[in-house]
Amino acid sequence: RAKKTPTANYEYFAPEIEEQTTWRLHMIRRLRTEFMARNLELWFQPQVDLSSEAVIGMEGLLRWPDGSGGYISPAEFVPLAEYSGLIVDIGYWVLEESCRRLNELAKMGYPNLRVAVNVSIPQFRDPNFVQSIKQLITHSGIKPGLLELEITESIVMDEPHIVIDALTDLKKFGVTIAIDDFGTGFSSMSYLQKLPLDRLKVDRSFVAEIKPGETAFIAETIVTLGNKLGLITIAEGIEKREQASFMIKLGCDEAQGYLFGRPMPFSSLVEYLAKRKKG
Ligand code: C2E
Ligand code: MG
Ligand code: MG
Ligand code: MG
Repeated sequence: RAKKTPTANYEYFAPEIEEQTTWRLHMIRRLRTEFMARNLELWFQPQVDLSSEAVIGMEGLLRWPDGSGGYISPAEFVPLAEYSGLIVDIGYWVLEESCRRLNELAKMGYPNLRVAVNVSIPQFRDPNFVQSIKQLITHSGIKPGLLELEITESIVMDEPHIVIDALTDLKKFGVTIAIDDFGTGFSSMSYLQKLPLDRLKVDRSFVAEIKPGETAFIAETIVTLGNKLGLITIAEGIEKREQASFMIKLGCDEAQGYLFGRPMPFSSLVEYLAKRKKG
């Protein structure tokens, strides 16, 4: 009886798994075609200083137009790009595009805004990763301090040595490093100290817990940890005024969220910046 059950399960689940696999392969093929045709877009979400609300930079976020006015979410296609290895080329394009936009912003009179870029584990496994970022920065002529790499806790736990070495090297070159979605993964405190971090991003799930009259002690603990580690803290997913005030009280430095601006195409970002400048 114990032997029969797995067989029955296998037969029961097999068609569904096959369907999923076929769908994933189909999506990966579509993604490759769209990327090669230069149809992916890099959008930008503003990041602000919490007390002055001055824009200090933005996060670059991938968008895949679905052809009928909508967009396929990066939460859906980035895992496929990682699984297929496509993220190495896509990620390099994201970095190139970010440097290009940084140069355009400097020409428009915003020479100090920075761009944060998300990086995935297959990019770290690429032996040319560090060198190609350095070359990109040198060739584009941007200030290295204006480019920030965002990594997650899981990336560090997957390949601690590769990641620590690569980031240490890039940090020496001037690039800044943020730890993203902090508090949602399991990170070892000893790795946290070995990473050359500049910023800690408080995951938006902890910001969402902030409601009038409640304590939101995880957000508080994370901000305290960030401050004790000497890092700049930035709150993700600020949607409401009271969340911003609460985070200020906790000693959080910066914020990103719909309250200040949604992710938007570069042309809209330029309009957004011009409007904020006028006040
Ligand atoms: P992330 O790096 O944590 O990016 C923040 C996500 O939170 C973005 O989702 C953003 O639109 C969303 N967000 C920002 N403010 C708010 C808010 O106030 N409320 C709510 N509900 N959401 C907010 P998005 O653009 O869908 O990206 C999802 C994830 O996809 C990113 O999470 C990141 O992990 C990944 N991703 C996006 N672009 C890239 C990329 O170029 N490379 C890699 N490797 N991953 C990327
Ligand atoms: Mg991010
Ligand atoms: Mg995040
Ligand atoms: Mg996230």
